[in-house]
Amino acid sequence: MKLLSDKKILIELNNVKKWFPIKSGLLSPVKNFVHAVDGVSLVVNKGETLGVVGESGCGKTTLGRLILNLIPITSGSIIYEGVELKRMRNRDIRKKMQIVFQDPGGSMNPRMTVRSIVSEPLIVNGHSDGAEMTKKVGDLLESVGLKKNHMTRFPHEFSGGQKQRVALARALALEPDFILLDEPTSALDVSVQAQVLNLLDEIQKQRGLTFVFITHSLNVVHHISDRVAVMYLGKIAELAKTDDLFERPAHPYTHALLSAIPEPTVGQDRSERIVLSGDVPSPADPPSGCRFHTRCPIAKPGTCDVEEPELIEIDTGHKVACHFPLVPGQKLPMINEQ
Ligand code: SF4
Repeated sequence: MKLLSDKKILIELNNVKKWFPIKSGLLSPVKNFVHAVDGVSLVVNKGETLGVVGESGCGKTTLGRLILNLIPITSGSIIYEGVELKRMRNRDIRKKMQIVFQDPGGSMNPRMTVRSIVSEPLIVNGHSDGAEMTKKVGDLLESVGLKKNHMTRFPHEFSGGQKQRVALARALALEPDFILLDEPTSALDVSVQAQVLNLLDEIQKQRGLTFVFITHSLNVVHHISDRVAVMYLGKIAELAKTDDLFERPAHPYTHALLSAIPEPTVGQDRSERIVLSGDVPSPADPPSGCRFHTRCPIAKPGTCDVEEPELIEIDTGHKVACHFPLVPGQKLPMINEQ
């Protein structure tokens, strides 16, 4: 079923929800739902890197799994190049869309050589094993900065950064158009992180790939993303081009996150650090109105706790879900200053 004609868009999410049922026992009735992703609409354009950032439990990892059809959506739709994802065969999805996880070692069989690990998706898809495969694996390893002779080694012989390169070679084997990168650098040392980020950048340019990069690190997202979606409790709080988001954050939550970055960023300084009060509320019982109102320094009772703000465009390509978006230069009150 063809739904779209916009050639720039690779993936479109329309009001996507994922609610996980809560039961006290396997056969007990459903007591409640965890609203892990709760009405997310966005597009991923061809050739871009969309960063998805937020605290742990905000729904970003669930969102990534939904985009790859690893788990079914509760409602809404995800459309890939004009075709609804749920109408595509998983085999076809895997050819077009791949994933690289945070812990590459955990996704590799320790008894398999690197050659077997990288060639596995090709063999599963009907490619015959032999001299041609050896050449293909060698080329893939070289494309990620490893050596051809690394293919005879086992995962434990590699450092974390090298394992991530092997995982990337495997993800590239079927020549996908899209790769979901789920915290791919968060387990690595800072110097190795930079090498992997630069490699991703290079590979994206060479192959015209599209990335969604999920991370809790704003520094990483700043480095790698063309646009950034900030998630809070299963919803998009703000979505903008990276420079716009970092220079003119309009959502109080984004502003607080940016103020907590250890390195000073444009328009910020350490003395302006905003520390949010309280914990992130439970996604099983999200607050009424704006989900951020229980922690927002500028929440207005009677509005913010009652009416849910929609994600609206406040500038070209800059969307925010807030009744009182910050204007450029506006500071949050320092009620929680440390
Ligand atoms: Fe804060 Fe209200 Fe905006 Fe929510 S809608 S972020 S509570 S000002």
